[in-house]
Amino acid sequence: MPRKEISLYVHVPFCAGKCAYCDFYSIPYERITADLYKSAVIRNVKRYVETGQIVFDTVYFGGGTPSLLPGEIAEITAFLRESGALSENAEISVEANPSDICAAENALGTLRGASVNRVSVGAQSLNEGELRFLGRRHDPKMAAAALANARKAGFENISADIMLGIPGQTADSLYRTLGALAEHRVVHVSAYILKIEEGTPLAAVRLRSPEAFPGEDETAELYLRAADFLGENGFAQYEISNFAKPGFECAHNLKYWRCGEYIGLGPAAHSFYGKKRFAVPKDVEGFIAALTQETYVTEENPADFGEWAMLKLRLTEGITFAECEERGVKRETLLERASAVPRRCLRISETGVSLTAEGFLAANSVISAMI
Ligand code: SF4
Repeated sequence: MPRKEISLYVHVPFCAGKCAYCDFYSIPYERITADLYKSAVIRNVKRYVETGQIVFDTVYFGGGTPSLLPGEIAEITAFLRESGALSENAEISVEANPSDICAAENALGTLRGASVNRVSVGAQSLNEGELRFLGRRHDPKMAAAALANARKAGFENISADIMLGIPGQTADSLYRTLGALAEHRVVHVSAYILKIEEGTPLAAVRLRSPEAFPGEDETAELYLRAADFLGENGFAQYEISNFAKPGFECAHNLKYWRCGEYIGLGPAAHSFYGKKRFAVPKDVEGFIAALTQETYVTEENPADFGEWAMLKLRLTEGITFAECEERGVKRETLLERASAVPRRCLRISETGVSLTAEGFLAANSVISAMI
């Protein structure tokens, strides 16, 4: 029987320091803990691989800061390769922080030699003041060097993350950042609107100086400008925050938005497998100590129309009437829901419905009206 192609997400819960805006789960990096963590990942993935029922067509190392652990990642991918758990052209991505890949000699070379074929560089901006505001550990030179080094190490599939709505960011500084990314021939850009999470240092700054932060309209303007710039430079938007040159869409993330199955390993990782959504507690020590990672169910009915449509409407491909009918929602019902949404936010065709760039800006309310 052919094995089922699913995805693997590995959460790497270590960072060299905390960025001012971040509330992701991570702990300070220590070599010994990283080594034990790697063994726990291999122990857990082995359990799935040994069933002989699955093979991974995408693998994604996210974090945290996976680029702090190139050697450990190489051991994990070697295990996957040697146990026949990878599909023939599996996409293997690693999130990389410019400060680590500049500091550690040949970290990128190690990753490339370990079958990693996609690198996502957390550039965030190529403006000094903006990076300082975000509390990043790199400066524009390091971000540029990271992109150049990724290419030198043999990566073709290079993505960069940027942020929109950073205090002090202007259309000009945004264009300079985007221009630099284009010069470095990145093939994929993720452009996220800066969200101020409660309890982070940036939330305290906003409390003290709210006037320093851009309003919603200013940030929306930057988003539309970024989308235009990227479109004019050959990047097609395929999701609210993601833009790619043809053929370089992130296959792993597309799996999430299309409700495909994936297994998440490591503290704070989420999974959708065997018709269930489940997550791993945010506890590195517990993960390392357990023979099998502890999980708890987060969603009883993930086949629900609302959840499927909510994820799929994030994509520019949107939802088709045929897909909706298969899930018990008629074309007329969908059109009636669409009539409650401002016309400029939706694209309605013969075959289905998708969000426009303005619709993406109001995604929460537009999607709620449609599901
Ligand atoms: S490196 Fe990434 S995960 Fe770590 S603190 Fe900064 S933003 Fe958060």
